[in-house]
Amino acid sequence: MKAFIDKSMCSGCRICTDECPQEAIAMEEVAAVKNDLCTGCGLCAEACPSGAISMKKDNPGRRSHERTG
Ligand code: SF4
Ligand code: SF4
Repeated sequence: MKAFIDKSMCSGCRICTDECPQEAIAMEEVAAVKNDLCTGCGLCAEACPSGAISMKKDNPGRRSHERTG
């Protein structure tokens, strides 16, 4: 799983960047997840007060070692 941020819903509050244990979220004009660093822990999605973050299955074919069956 990876976190995906809906930029149209992000207020830029930065709570998710504080929550992420992997420092996988960068602030650009709004928050942006660095997929290579994201472990899919879901903390950011729980913390986001705007509901802008959703957890989605990793794009199959990019990395196969994270298979969940
Ligand atoms: S799911 Fe976890 S590792 Fe990924 S961006 Fe959110 S807090 Fe960081
Ligand atoms: S917690 Fe949500 S609203 Fe705040 S910066 Fe992160 S994605 Fe945007």
